[in-house]
Amino acid sequence: MARWLITGCSTGIGREIARAALEAGHSVVVTARRVESVADFTDEFGDRAVTVALDVTDKEQIAAAVRTATDAFGGIDVLVNNAGNGYLAAIEEGEDDQVRKLFDVNYFGVVDMIKATLPGMRARGAGHIVNISSMTGLVANPPNGYYSSTKFALEALTEALAQEVKPFGIKVTAIEPGAFRTDWAARSMWESATPISDYDDTVGSRKTMIKEFANHLPGDPRKAADAVLMVTGLDDPPLRLLLGRDVLKAVRDKLAAFSASIDEWASVTKDVEFPRG
Ligand code: NAP
Repeated sequence: MARWLITGCSTGIGREIARAALEAGHSVVVTARRVESVADFTDEFGDRAVTVALDVTDKEQIAAAVRTATDAFGGIDVLVNNAGNGYLAAIEEGEDDQVRKLFDVNYFGVVDMIKATLPGMRARGAGHIVNISSMTGLVANPPNGYYSSTKFALEALTEALAQEVKPFGIKVTAIEPGAFRTDWAARSMWESATPISDYDDTVGSRKTMIKEFANHLPGDPRKAADAVLMVTGLDDPPLRLLLGRDVLKAVRDKLAAFSASIDEWASVTKDVEFPRG
């Protein structure tokens, strides 16, 4: 049985991953900004569930959470970086403080969690870091330009990190959910307070569409959690795992268009070198 630490367990995908891991018999440090939102886990699972208050933008809380995991279970085998926020804005509408806040949670929060956890994993020569990315980590569309930017950054981090820590026996996986029915649109996503009317018919109409679609999203967060459990049980897990027909289609379409564009422009691409010889 493994020892897990999961961020953002108050609701949604993080909560379901915590439940799935505990039901499978693992021990879990269940973290949330409002620790009372996860109190029910200790009622149900006893000592195998340790709850900790954790805002991933607070380095002291991160250090304390990792210490708690070490004191309670002896270490962390599986770190799930799930906590995240969304932000709907055309690029021109983006407010500096909001964009930075988004990166602080979705990117720098993950960086700090990983830095705090890796020393223990390196010492033990084992571990699995799971980063909950997004379809938007691979395909960018308005009004998710900034949100996508945080998740693209997370994808790059994941890809490089996986190569860096493989020699230590540590695995790294990014999970790319499509549209899942969680509290996301209701609570975790906000939008620019300074919309520009010239974008009303383009970016603005997509904001409306996203908000209207929010209650009909096809993805079941429990099934996402089961997929995460499955991946962490593999000797050779994938670097990326797409979850949902929507993300499968979007990524395949992007790869096909990208590949065609690369081929179309290959002669220009190659013709930039000094003459050989
Ligand atoms: P959710 O139910 O709204 O959960 C978001 C979680 O993140 C909440 O527990 C929230 O805690 C937590 N959180 C936000 N800021 C935090 C911070 N500074 N420190 C610690 N925790 C923080 O939405 P969800 O869909 O499950 O989202 C989970 C992850 O899935 C996110 O990374 C998101 O980008 C990703 N994702 C979701 C979808 C989707 O369609 N739902 C698709 C692709 C990717 P509070 O209760 O304190 O706010």
